[in-house]
Order: sequence, then C-alpha cells, then structure tokens
Amino acid sequence: MKKALVCGGGGFIGSHLVKRLKREGFWVRAVDLKLPEFSISEADDFVIGDLRLQEVCNKLFDQHFDQVYQLAADMGGAGYIFTGENDAHVMHNSALVNLNIVELCRIHGVERVFYSSSACMYPAHNQEDPDNPHCSEDSAYPAHPDSEYGWEKLFSERLYLSYSRNHGLKVRVARFHNIFGPEGTWEGGKEKAPAALCRKIAQAGYGGTIEVWGDGMQTRSFLYIDECIEGIRRLIESDWEGPVNIGSEEMISINALAKLISDISGKGIVIKNIPGPTGVRGRNSDNRLIAQKLGWSPNYPLKKGIETTYRWIEAQCKKKG
Ligand code: NAD
Repeated sequence: MKKALVCGGGGFIGSHLVKRLKREGFWVRAVDLKLPEFSISEADDFVIGDLRLQEVCNKLFDQHFDQVYQLAADMGGAGYIFTGENDAHVMHNSALVNLNIVELCRIHGVERVFYSSSACMYPAHNQEDPDNPHCSEDSAYPAHPDSEYGWEKLFSERLYLSYSRNHGLKVRVARFHNIFGPEGTWEGGKEKAPAALCRKIAQAGYGGTIEVWGDGMQTRSFLYIDECIEGIRRLIESDWEGPVNIGSEEMISINALAKLISDISGKGIVIKNIPGPTGVRGRNSDNRLIAQKLGWSPNYPLKKGIETTYRWIEAQCKKKG
C-alpha cells in the first residue's frame, strides 16, 4: 500500500486531497495546526502539530512515505494578503514550513514531493489589463509579485526545484489559481472572493445590497475544488516537474461573479462597489502547458461549481442562524 503525507491536511484543499487519496487506496497521514473545520478527516493518522517546529516535522517521518504533499501555508483571501498587515507572518511562517519539509523529504528519500505554489507569484506588471492578463508559466521572470505571499511562493518554488537539481528529489510544483468549493473558509477574514460573495448574498434579503471591493471590473478565474485535486494527482504521477498552472481559463470580473451568484440565489441583489484590497487588475490561468504536458486541463463550468458552493454556504449561514 502506498503511503502519503499531506501537510496542511486540515485545510480546504488538503482535506479534499486526503479524501481522494483514501479513495485511491493510499495510507494517509495528515498534519495541520487544526482538524478540518467542515468535515471529519478520512486520514488514517491525523497529527495536530506546527510545521514551523523541526521537532514536530522530524516525528512525522518515522516511516517511509512514497509521496508528500506540501499544502500548509499562512494564507487567506485579499483581506489577509493584500493589506500588508500580515506580511512578516506570511513570509516567516510559510518559509519555515517549506524549509523543514523539503529537507526531511531529502533525508528520508521520499519518492515524490508536491508543492502548492500560487498564481500570486506572477509579475504584477503582466496583470494590469483586466481583459488581457498574461500568466503563462514562462512569464514568471523578471519577478515582480504584488504581495509578500507571492514572493514567498516564488522563493519556495525555487527551494523545491533546487533540491531537485542538487539532490535528485522528484518535485512537482503547481501554481493554483483561486480554488473554491464546499468546505472552504467562508467567513472570518481569510475567505476568498467566491466564498465571501456567496456569504454576503446568502445573508442578504431579497433585493438587498452587498458591498464588493474595488470597482468590480478586476478579473479572475476560479477553479472548482474537484478539478484542483484531479490536477494535483495527475501532476504528481506525471514526469513533468513544473511549475505548471492549475486553474480555470474561464475569466470573469468580480462584479459579474457577484451577478452570477445573485442569479443563482434568485434574490436580485444590488452590487455596491466600495474601496478595498483587490490585488492585480486581471488574472487568468493559461492552460497551454498543462494541456501539453499532462494531456489534460480543467474544464468544469464555473456556474456549476458556484451553484454547489452557494448552496453549501447558504446552509452554513442557516446553521449559524
Ligand atoms: P487553507 O488555509 O485552508 O489550508 C492551509 C492549511 O495549512 C491550514 O489548514 C493551516 O492550518 C495549515 N497550516 C498553516 N500553517 C501551518 C503550520 N505552521 N503548521 C501546520 N499547518 C499549518 O488553504 P488552502 O486553500 O487549502 O490552500 C492550500 C495551499 O494551496 C496553500 O499553500 C495555498 O497557499 C495554496 N494556494 C491556494 C489557493 C486557493 O485558492 N485556495 C490558491 C493558490 C495557492
């Protein structure tokens, strides 16, 4: 039986990944600061621990792992990353986790290591035109991410890839573009745009008004969680070392996303744009490389994913009262 370690296995993507690995027959150890918030982990062994601490990390490797997935990061939505208030935490915490894990993967001869980078590492100057952002993998340099979160991701990509070059560690690096879906953070300040908008609309009355940060013309693409997991599994099993985008090419403005959610809710919501942290003007996944290297790329319709997510967040809001 193959064994996998999922770092960040209590988080949104990590907990979905654990489910998938279990379905595929892996023995799974997950590690996180916390248990999953919205589900019961299916991991065979769940370790509550802080991956910034070497002694915690050392203990995880008391057995051989075929695959290690490193998803743990100090992260959140625009309200967490783009205000600048959490920069030192984000860089310090995530870099420490990555330094610890990659070294232990080398020491213990892990067969394959997956690292979750982010589209936030792409240069800000290529994402100023909301209708025409440029996010092909080879556009990463000269580097100029718009946040410290993006800089840390870039550093850690390079960290993993240098372990590949110098130590022969088989690493796979994905740059995720806005992953969303049920069982993701939907309140509290770390939620992302789709979850925040679903929550605001679920909590609004019929014909009510919601506030949307920025002028709403900023564009993004959003990938449904199931396809993200599919991409992770395909990438780690492939021969392509990356980095490669895992995202959707279905670009949409934030106001259009709010309108889509309003339509799904049937509430006829009015959108009020207010100043707020927004990040770059435009971002879209470029899936040419993943299609070429994996013979596969995401194609799940945004509307379908948003419908499922809205219903889940609506139910969470009702539960909370
Ligand atoms: P998440 O916040 O739900 O999951 C990250 C998990 O890491 C959390 O459960 C957190 O408790 C854990 N963690 C943080 N610091 C830790 C530490 N010191 N020790 C142990 N655990 C720690 O986020 P997610 O959406 O599941 O993202 C997973 C990965 O994908 C992250 O690396 C993130 O940067 C990356 N990513 C996500 C998106 C997205 O849209 N969700 C986009 C780009 C990149």
